[in-house]
Amino acid sequence: MVKAENITIIGSGPAGYTAAIYAARAGLSPLMISGLEQGGQLMITTDVENYPGFEKPVQGPWLMEQMKNQAKSFGTRILVDFVKDVDLNSLPFKIKTEKEVIKSNSIVIATGAKANWLNIKGEQEFMGFGVSACATCDGFFFKDKDVAVVGGGNTAIEEALFLSNLCRKVHIIHRRDKLRAEKILQERLFQKKNVEFIWDSNVTEITGDLEKKVLKSITIKNKNNEINQLSVDGFFVAIGHSPATTLFKNKLQMDNDGYIFTEPNSTKTDIDGVFAAGDVTDRLYRQAVTAAGMGCMSAIEAESFLSSKKII
Ligand SMILES: Cc1cc2nc3c(=O)[nH]c(=O)nc-3n(C[C@H](O)[C@H](O)[C@H](O)COP(=O)(O)OP(=O)(O)OC[C@H]3O[C@@H](n4cnc5c(N)ncnc54)[C@H](O)[C@@H]3O)c2cc1C
Repeated sequence: MVKAENITIIGSGPAGYTAAIYAARAGLSPLMISGLEQGGQLMITTDVENYPGFEKPVQGPWLMEQMKNQAKSFGTRILVDFVKDVDLNSLPFKIKTEKEVIKSNSIVIATGAKANWLNIKGEQEFMGFGVSACATCDGFFFKDKDVAVVGGGNTAIEEALFLSNLCRKVHIIHRRDKLRAEKILQERLFQKKNVEFIWDSNVTEITGDLEKKVLKSITIKNKNNEINQLSVDGFFVAIGHSPATTLFKNKLQMDNDGYIFTEPNSTKTDIDGVFAAGDVTDRLYRQAVTAAGMGCMSAIEAESFLSSKKII
């Protein structure tokens, strides 16, 4: 019998840590490979107000430290390493990291996703202080204020619709003269009285008071190269997300944008014993709590798989 891990969790965001907590408490002695961004996306944010259990806002890095400590307290082993390749052809699966090859009888993929950014001046500097890629996460900070959303696809329109119920004014800036989003979403948005469109334009710079960490305005350049300043309190970049799935390409079923396919109401992928949880499979909700929920599901499903194979 080849010696192999029961379960290896790839990624250390909310999905990964929750999978680890459940797997460890089920006696599976999980191994986690943390990746380069230990703690995942919440490590780059400040106030988190919508993760249940906390009356007051908590800091993203603090929340992730708690999850890590909780996972470790039940015996999760954490390897600070990066997965370069996987062989999912037969059990035990093989996971090639920067440092070693790990054999594992089940895998939870929790490698997350990243928002696509414009890479313009001021974007990094004001991130978390006016610049965001998540209206559900940060929209409430701009209640009754003026914001701008950049993008023209479904994500942008959904973000703008969400913000239009909270903010005084929502400007949508799009580089073309029409939206790409589904018609039904467009119609809903066109009915909103507090939404204004700025067509054929790009945002080129974000400015504000860096010391006070307050965003003040954005610079917009239209197709005639005319430049205008727009005063806003918040700026939402909604030009899509990229799931971290390159290494699973042609090995697991995914959609055209690289989100790993899972069975409905499950984290099972098209390969028995391989599960996907969190933003890596979720193009819709993209929240810490939904990622954590899927992490829980993946560990329970992995346990059931291992038991069906008489591995545990
Ligand atoms: C600025 C910002 C603010 C946010 N605010 C909120 C908020 O207030 N509330 C909320 O609910 N959500 C918020 N979100 C969204 C939330 O962070 C994500 O939904 C959540 O982190 C997804 O969790 P995850 O575990 O699926 O993946 P992630 O958090 O993306 O973690 C992915 C993990 O996988 C690892 N990884 C990737 N590739 C590899 C590899 N090849 N090998 C090993 N490891 C790998 C990474 O290092 C990382 O640890 C915010 C996101 C951002 C960017």
